[in-house]
Amino acid sequence: MPVEWDETADVCVVGSGGAALTAAYTAAANGARTLVLEKTGYFGGTSAYSGSCLWLPGNHVLRRAGVEDSVARGLEYFRAVVGDRTPAALQEAYVSTAPELVEFLDRDPVLEFEFLPFPDYFTAPGHAPGGRGIVPKPLPAAELGDRLGQVRPPVSVDQYGVAQDRETLTGGQALIGRLLLALDRTGNATMRTGTRMRSLVVEDGRVAGVEVEHEGRTLFVRAERGVILAAGGFERDAELRRELQGLPGADWSSAAPGSNTGDALAALRAAGAAIDLTDESWWCPAVLFPNGHAAFTLGLRGGVFVNAAGERFANESLPYDRMGHEIRAGHATGVSHLPVWWIFDARFTSTPGITQPAPDPGTFQAAGLWRTAGTLTGLAELIGVPADVLGKTVTRFNGFAASGVDADFHRGEAPYDRFFAAGDGPNPSLVPIDRAPFHAVQVVLGDLGTKGGARIGVDAQVLGEDGAAIPGLYAVGNSAASVAGHVYPGPGVPLGSGMTFGYRAVNRILA
Ligand code: FAD
Repeated sequence: MPVEWDETADVCVVGSGGAALTAAYTAAANGARTLVLEKTGYFGGTSAYSGSCLWLPGNHVLRRAGVEDSVARGLEYFRAVVGDRTPAALQEAYVSTAPELVEFLDRDPVLEFEFLPFPDYFTAPGHAPGGRGIVPKPLPAAELGDRLGQVRPPVSVDQYGVAQDRETLTGGQALIGRLLLALDRTGNATMRTGTRMRSLVVEDGRVAGVEVEHEGRTLFVRAERGVILAAGGFERDAELRRELQGLPGADWSSAAPGSNTGDALAALRAAGAAIDLTDESWWCPAVLFPNGHAAFTLGLRGGVFVNAAGERFANESLPYDRMGHEIRAGHATGVSHLPVWWIFDARFTSTPGITQPAPDPGTFQAAGLWRTAGTLTGLAELIGVPADVLGKTVTRFNGFAASGVDADFHRGEAPYDRFFAAGDGPNPSLVPIDRAPFHAVQVVLGDLGTKGGARIGVDAQVLGEDGAAIPGLYAVGNSAASVAGHVYPGPGVPLGSGMTFGYRAVNRILA
């Protein structure tokens, strides 16, 4: 039976993170009637939590800041680190469109960007040791008016109840705020919260719209030109996490509970899409909080990570996704790396790294997530690792700190390692652990979102099992299988690639 449509748009975008709103803005700015459907009570998704660094090589904002970069160098690097795990044409579509996307967005006075120095995550041909990421400029909250209350608050407010000033929006808050403002000004966009896509509607072999749930009612939304799935991954669905990634649940993901629960994946499977990379996430070490959530942690300035055997297993200064892979690989050997214990000494009064919010020692001690002892032997007993091994691990590490050379894991050799380093020895990444009392804090395998979803073509067209595009259907952001394959090449690839493919999808739709 033909569907009775309740509403019609040219382009229907499901989700409201950076990829979704970029696609929506591209459509609305080009005169298309655009509908954004967001399931939760807030716009922004995990993108609103983010630092909003955008990895977009060779763009004019970089040039303006005096950064020497080009599409060719960016592509050389991207290819070197991603390899052939994803199609070369897809990689090229991303990197070569980056400057055009930034020019397009920057034409709108509301969408302003600046350079953020933050190194690439691998030392490989074409890498940018000083970085090639850009961020939206801070946005005075007052400019958002009533929209402010609709932007998902920062993660420390949203998930950990820590009060935070919202007078000036930065990072992901500014990205979502600016995109909402720009969308409003087009006069062509309707944006709804509390509206969940349940399934796709297919008519005559073409995705013609979506079935949604809104205030307890079922509605049918027609998309005359195309449906763009930008509804994140499945990081907040415990069962999918167990089935596809072998993880104990979904609580360690950074995404807001109830947000990215695999709705896009289910719709894509039902539509016959080819699915890839579901075993992957944008991983990170994450400090486990008393509420069971785990907060993204990066930029270690001190301490070592040890597993249940009391041994180091990696360079602790690695970029977060690479450390996540190390934790996962280590755990698979049979020695528990969940949790990892972060061992540091009295030099530090809080955990020596960047975690939002910063762990509060008292609350963490009470919850058993942070242990302190006057000796390393005492600490080993408290955390249940062999005391002799922990002692040897720390003694050996202190020797490396004195010589400046980490003979085991080469910590401090890569530009990224040194970016956050603050030690005063011969190698600033190696800070000795020799002043009592000694501390141990639990770290688990967190993520910034899953990476698996639809295989897409160069314009984000969803591909079926036979490799042909499914008419009317596009997927971007973490609803698509990432162009980065198994690696996280540099700061801003999740958002940068999602936004670029959102832009490309709409250009194809409207062509
Ligand atoms: P999201 O931004 O999560 O948006 C998906 C939206 O879809 C959500 O709002 C969700 O509620 C909605 N949705 C889900 N299902 C439905 C449905 N059925 N119907 C309607 N709506 C639905 N990445 C970078 O590139 N640069 C950074 O600087 C960076 N910093 C980060 C810092 C932190 C602290 C964290 C946690 C992450 C960071 N990331 C960063 C990662 C990045 O934020 C995410 O991977 C990215 O935002 C995911 O974008 P997305 O559009 O796929 O999903």
